[in-house]
Amino acid sequence: MMTCFNTRQANSNCPNTGSDEMAHYFDDEFLRRLRNDIPWALLLQRLRWPHKQRHGQLAFLCPRCQEYLSAVNPRTNLGRCFHCGTNFNPIDFVIQVQDCDFVTAVSHLKRLLPHANH
Ligand SMILES: [Zn+2]
Repeated sequence: MMTCFNTRQANSNCPNTGSDEMAHYFDDEFLRRLRNDIPWALLLQRLRWPHKQRHGQLAFLCPRCQEYLSAVNPRTNLGRCFHCGTNFNPIDFVIQVQDCDFVTAVSHLKRLLPHANH
């Protein structure tokens, strides 16, 4: 994380990156569930993002390089683009696809959690 979202003034001192600060706003277990428990098939459907099954793996259009050379690893729940080498967890993916910030992505994703025990 290189970007400081909170600070627009060139000379101000920003001890934390914006995303770290926002991450502390949510508890770790909740964020872990968002990364690990959101089914990619459902996520891609909800985003209406182009995807397909290829050799039993889920492939999606890479929002970064627009290639289809990707797969979702069911063990880590990470989507990987083999063309540009980017790994996406569901949170990263929503941020990239919707061009939104971390908090917005999280509020979008929490509705996709399976059987959320509130
Ligand atoms: Zn890519």
